Amino acid sequence: MRLVGALSPPTPAIMKNTPIRYTLRPADPAAHLFEVSCRVTHPDPDGQRFALPAWIPGSYLIRDFARHIVAISAEAGGRPVALHKLDKHTWQAAPVPGKQALTVTCTVYAWDLSVRGAHLDRTHGFCNGTSVFLRVLGREEAPCLVDLQPPPGKDYADWRVATALPAASGEKGAARAHGFGLYAAANYDELIDHPVEMGTFTLARFKACGVPHEVAISGRHDCAGSALERLTADLRKICEWQIRFFGEPAPMKKYVFLVTAVGDGYGGLEHRASTALLCSRDDLPYRGMEGVPERYRTFLGLASHEYFHTWNVKRIKPAAFVPYDLDRENHTTLLWAFEGFTSYYDDLALLKSGVITQKDWLELAAKNLDSVLRGPGRLSQSLAESSFDAWSKYYRPDENTPNAVVSYYAKGSLVALALDLTLRAGSRGKVSLDDVMRALWQRHGQTGVGVGDDDIRRIAEELSGMKLKRFFAEAVHGTADLPLAKLLKPFGIALTREAASATPGLGAKTNGDGSEVKLATVYRGGGAERAGLAAGDVLLAIDGLRVTPATLDRQLARRRPGATVVVHAFRRDELLRCELRLDPPAADSSKLASDGQRNELRAEWLAETGRRKERTAGRKA
Ligand SMILES: [Zn+2]
Repeated sequence: MRLVGALSPPTPAIMKNTPIRYTLRPADPAAHLFEVSCRVTHPDPDGQRFALPAWIPGSYLIRDFARHIVAISAEAGGRPVALHKLDKHTWQAAPVPGKQALTVTCTVYAWDLSVRGAHLDRTHGFCNGTSVFLRVLGREEAPCLVDLQPPPGKDYADWRVATALPAASGEKGAARAHGFGLYAAANYDELIDHPVEMGTFTLARFKACGVPHEVAISGRHDCAGSALERLTADLRKICEWQIRFFGEPAPMKKYVFLVTAVGDGYGGLEHRASTALLCSRDDLPYRGMEGVPERYRTFLGLASHEYFHTWNVKRIKPAAFVPYDLDRENHTTLLWAFEGFTSYYDDLALLKSGVITQKDWLELAAKNLDSVLRGPGRLSQSLAESSFDAWSKYYRPDENTPNAVVSYYAKGSLVALALDLTLRAGSRGKVSLDDVMRALWQRHGQTGVGVGDDDIRRIAEELSGMKLKRFFAEAVHGTADLPLAKLLKPFGIALTREAASATPGLGAKTNGDGSEVKLATVYRGGGAERAGLAAGDVLLAIDGLRVTPATLDRQLARRRPGATVVVHAFRRDELLRCELRLDPPAADSSKLASDGQRNELRAEWLAETGRRKERTAGRKA
């Protein structure tokens, strides 16, 4: 028995409340190196332990951020202190004599231009706390002070800071607006939930329901002047709709959109008072832009998605995330509700805030439906399973993913649609998914109580008086397609499927870039599988004629489904010959169309009259 450790005296409150002090210095932008230190007063007398998270909340993959620590050392009272590495991301310092403070300093390599990591070069710096700030084990609840420093040298004199982390007001050296200096967080969980951008970004501000919002755009882009005004005007409408949806006041004092524009990119990660977005510079508004081009609509959908997470997943959380365990996978069967429902409301918010039209929205909904129906994986994996295994399946796609995995985003959003329609029709328009979301916000988001596996069903049943066990069993735990056409009927919306093309299919997805046709995925039960072809095979010829990415479709178009062709292919360096019976045309595409008749249920749901109200409200504010 080791009673000594177990019975060590509890940490006095004064020690628990002494801030942990961090400094973050872009020490060498050209080498992509941040220098980060962490100073602890009253370190653990048995040897203080420090760790870096294995993953970043919101992105369900073990990333082992500690692998980017290239040097680490510790000191106390000017003398070096030995550090012992315990596992891939945990270090223990030797006990420090007397009452000396312990400082650990590490050098972090930052060359990941994604929303999940850290990136530093001569043009800008970006980091998530999970990549740079060590967690002081046992002191996770202590307040944190962070000294954000500029890179050394005159070249960076015009760099500023964008973050939702509040300045350490009242402290010596507190940062001024967008300046370097001291920032504060209530605890470690808050510290790592405020990404930081530093550089010469474009900055725009607006208020939504009285809450200050900022947009900081880094990277080269053309979003200035009237284009930037257009962006903030649209974002404001979306943010105000969402704040009112859950009810004022908004849960954050300030909100920041940290946007990185690149040549080609797409991604977003949610935080409690900010979001990091990566987009293509062509997605942003530009001078002379007319209407809502598809790329801009996609960008607004992304911003809307991450903003909705401010409530749904950052505050209304699955029980498995209360609190997060940053050392390992946190399994939950509920990602369909947190990602799927958010995906349903992201585009719906564009419609209801008047940014896009009902026709646009119906198009987006049909596209989402097709993305689910085209994946055979939906017939073998349920949403609950897809959520639970996100860490090893959805986030680690391979050639078999389309056959084995269903997206909890896309199908989760169809479940939100189906549930919304079921509740609205069953209650004659009195209860909707909106009411369920608001109840989740009041009972879980505002109280911090995690959402259990059955809570959403229970809330929906309680509010509507309906029996929904079967709905959830089929939609969340089953693999059959949802009866959307039937559910949409009472709303005067017809769902039809039409052939996208008459060209027969190979039963495989091909990679058509370059000069060769490579099989990326061979679909379960399709022609290519029956013929003995596999993912990675390179198609050379069909019926003796060479196949290229440019000619494949034309060669198939001349044939009928069910016809047999002779295929030559390479598997590694071995030549194969096989006979392939062609599949029916690859996929139908869905169409959603309103019948144009007056329909109370639809009017209430898609806010056909609400848009006018919204505009009036917008003018008043
Ligand atoms: Zn999301």
